[in-house]
Formats: sequence, structure tokens, C-alpha cells
Amino acid sequence: MMEHQTFRPGRVIAALVVLFTWAGWTWPGTPEVSASGALTGHRLMIDPGHGGSDPGAVGPTGLREADVNLRVGLSLRSLLVQYSGATVYMTRDKDMDVTLEQRTTQANQLGVERFISIHHNASSNQQVNGVETYAYTYASADSLDLRDKVYGELLNWSRLPGRGPNTANFWVLKYTQMPAILTEASFISNPYQESRLRDPDYNFREALAIYKGILAHFDTRDAVPTQDPASTWEFLRHLP
Ligand SMILES: [Zn+2]
Repeated sequence: MMEHQTFRPGRVIAALVVLFTWAGWTWPGTPEVSASGALTGHRLMIDPGHGGSDPGAVGPTGLREADVNLRVGLSLRSLLVQYSGATVYMTRDKDMDVTLEQRTTQANQLGVERFISIHHNASSNQQVNGVETYAYTYASADSLDLRDKVYGELLNWSRLPGRGPNTANFWVLKYTQMPAILTEASFISNPYQESRLRDPDYNFREALAIYKGILAHFDTRDAVPTQDPASTWEFLRHLP
């Protein structure tokens, strides 16, 4: 009888999976997919701005833009996956550092169809509040259409002052090779708005407005949830 000590790649992979799962590690590019819906077959990337050592803008009582962007981004992913069957990638799905270059490189390598960057605005004037959405200065017609539809839904939902769909030279808009937009749904520097942005239900409703804009862009009105987010999205309360 001879016992061979054979190399088993399967065991190594299993061990690594266990190790990384234990360490809480996941590749941010791993998509979340559901069975079927109005956007089945569409591959989108959501980019919650900032994260890790970069808090983004910080509200008057310390709320970090990076955390708000993540909550809105994760809510948007849930809506797109669970209600419309889209395949959704995230540039980050937790509080972690991701460079601007990593964000656009991921999107370009994956060849996603649309790129949606989530941010919140800030001003040295604490009275300022309002909705802005952006596309690249030399944006495609699809970028402009997505930007305008999301802007309309954010404005309609939030009742905040409209500051216009704009164009800008932002990195994530300039270096993405697919239609891309960036949302600044409100000002975290405004004390009242900061208190709203602390509420996961409010974050969900912002995501819902962006989601409706995306559906309109793809010319479908299906799959808009009717349940009360307050009961459906309790899990969001456990996020940072
Ligand atoms: Zn930002």
C-alpha cells in the first residue's frame, strides 16, 4: 500500500474561501443577481463615493458622507436586484478605501452598461440645500438621459430646491467608458438635511428615487415596490 500525498487544489480553494469569509473579505466586484425582472440581463455598477480613510464631506454633527453614500448605494442595489433582476456590481460594499482609478478601472474591465456614482453635497453656507446630478462635460446622449431622469425623480421625491442637471469633469465620469452619472441628492452640510440623512428610511427613499429614474431611463415602469420601506428594509438600520 502506498499513500500518496497529492496536491488537491479544491482543498486549497476551500481553505481560502473559509479564511476570507472568516475575515469578512469579499471582492467588491462580485455581482448580486436575482432571477428575473424588467432589467434582467442589464449589468450596472453602483459607486458609493469615498470610504475608508476618506470620509468625504462631514456634516455639522459629524455624519460622514461616505457612510450615507454606502447606505443609499446598498439600498439601490437591493432595489435593482430584488425588484428588477438587474446584475449589480459595487465599487465598494463596505467602509473601505477605493481609489478613483480603481473605481473606473473595475467598471471598464467588467464592461458594465451604466455607472452610477452616489455622493452628497457640501457648502460653507449651511443654509444651502438642493438636488444636483452630473454627467461628463462631453457626455453621451445616454448619460444625459439617465442624468435627467434621475434628477427628475430626486427632485419630485425630495421637494428640495433644484440646482439643475449639470456637467462636470469629475474623474469617475471622465474615465468610465460607458454612460455614467453622479448624484448629489442633497447637502450634508445643512443641519436639518444632515439629520434626515442619518435616517436609513430616508436613505432608502433616496435610493428609490434613483431607482425610478433608472427604470425610466430603460423605458420601463415595472417593478416599483409598493411595500412600506420602513418594514421591508429594517436591515438597513444595522448598517454603519
Ligand atoms: Zn462626495
